[in-house]
Parts: sequence; C-alpha cells; structure tokens
Amino acid sequence: MTDLTQQEKKQTYHFNKLQKRLRRNVGNAIADFGMIEDGDKVMVCLSGGKDSYTLLDILLNLQQNAPIHFDIVAVNLDQKQPGFPEHILPTYLQEIGVDYKIVQENTYGIVKEKIPEGKTTCSLCSRLRRGILYRTATELGATKIALGHHRDDMLATLFLNMFYGGKMKSMPPKLISDDGKQIVIRPLAYCKEKDIEKYAMAKAFPIIPCNLCGSQPNLQRQVVKEMLNTWDRQYPGRLETMFSAMQNITLSHMCDPSLFDFKGIRHGQSLEGIEGDMAFDEEQIPPMQFEDEDQSDFSHQEMISVKEVS
Ligand code: SF4
Repeated sequence: MTDLTQQEKKQTYHFNKLQKRLRRNVGNAIADFGMIEDGDKVMVCLSGGKDSYTLLDILLNLQQNAPIHFDIVAVNLDQKQPGFPEHILPTYLQEIGVDYKIVQENTYGIVKEKIPEGKTTCSLCSRLRRGILYRTATELGATKIALGHHRDDMLATLFLNMFYGGKMKSMPPKLISDDGKQIVIRPLAYCKEKDIEKYAMAKAFPIIPCNLCGSQPNLQRQVVKEMLNTWDRQYPGRLETMFSAMQNITLSHMCDPSLFDFKGIRHGQSLEGIEGDMAFDEEQIPPMQFEDEDQSDFSHQEMISVKEVS
C-alpha cells in the first residue's frame, strides 16, 4: 500500500513537471513571436490527434491565466473519411465546455475522384483542407488560426527542404496567408514531440486514428523523422542544439547573396551586425546545453493512469 502511494506520488510529480514544461514552452513561443494579442479569437484546428488535443488543452489553461483576454473556438473538419468516428470530438468538446464547430466537407470523395489510384493524395487533400479552414476562420470571425505542429515537425521540415527542395526553410511559428487575410500560428513550436506524446497519453485524450483516408504515409518525412529519432537516441541533446541553430542564424556565414551584401564587403568597413573573421581560426564548438528536463525513466505506461494535479 505504501509502495503504491509512493509510486502514485512519483507519477504525479513527473506529470506536473511535464505539464509545467509544456505550458512554459507554449507561453514562451506565444510571447517570442507575438502569436496572441488582447481581443484575439483563436481558432484551434483539432484533428483528433495527440498534437491538436495537447494544443487545445494548453491554450485553454493559458487562457485562464493570461494577463490578456482572448477567445478560443475549436474547429474540426470532418473530411468524410470512411470509419471516421463522428461522435468522439463533439462528446469531448462538450465535456470540456469549449466553443466548437464541426465542419463537414467530403474532401475524401473529391480526392478519390480526382487522383488516380496509387498516386499520392496528400497535396490536393491539404490544399482543400486549408481553403475550408481559412473560410471557416472568416465565418467565425477568428483572428488567428492555431495549428498543432511542434518542434520536431519544424526540424523534419527543415531537413526535407534541404534534402529534396534545396532550400534552408522550415515551418514558421507564425505566418500570414497568401491573400493577407489569415494569420496562422504554431504555439507548440518549442514543444518536443516526446513530451506531447507523454502528455496525451497521461491525459487519455480520445485519439482518432490518422490513417482513415488509406493514403500512404509520406515516405520522405518518415525517413527524416527516423533519422532525427536515431540522432536523438545516439546523441542526446542534438535535436535541442539543432533547434537552437534555427533560432540563431548568421547570414554573413551562409551563402545567399540576396540576404547578405557580400559584394558590398570593403576594406575597413564597420563590423557592426556582422560576425567577425574566423577564416583562419579553429571552429569553437561550445559544450551542449541541456534544458531543465526530467531525464528519468518515465515511460508511457507509467503515465497512463496519472491524474492531473495542477
Ligand atoms: S494523410 Fe490522408 S487526410 Fe492526411 S493529408 Fe494525406 S490524404 Fe489527407
């Protein structure tokens, strides 16, 4: 009995640390990128996956504690995929008492009709989905559209663009739509996928499977994710360092003449805003920095029965 109580205490302690870390990460991302302002109406896109449930949960908590006022409306797009369990999200959203809208559009049927069997359907499907979500945001008077992409999605996108697109480009934490009417934010930008997985498991969110459309998963993204996960196992801290690098770019030491005036470099010019000369120096690699993170063995199974204690 005593042992069980100790175990429960340990689980609660770890869960509270995890929850605090996620809330802090989201709060910092919102502040750093000016994602949410007083009076905003944030439309949270809810797919039924672990990331979007976590996003909604953390934003609802921040809403209660933030010094500013903002509204939240959860939106799910029911794409009419076969086997989509229509009742799960409305039941959950009613239980937690959040404003919500379920948009029903048969994009599955359109995609199946337009794309030949065996060809990848994701590009048309996501274009349709984007259009519907932008339209819904306008109808609801939403001033921000929040998506559940996290740090590891951003890292994977960076490598995908380098490997296959020849570009140093990731997913921005905040962006404006092509027509200038919608602002999309990614408040989980500083959150690790591993933390989100543990949190979703502990909170027992009613996850909806993501393979209902029957589309093949994006193979290139899978490969890149596996590469990143392997690095994470072999070299702990590497993903953190790479994400720091995305926030710490020295344009004078890259080679894009449209972003840095290499032609304008002259003898005797001021070095203000330019990193100095390291041409003949040995590269100084600083030691790895670890975030204050619970590195203990904190398995998913352990988390399952943890109840929230805030
Ligand atoms: S995996 Fe399925 S639902 Fe997701 S974007 Fe691709 S086709 Fe659409």
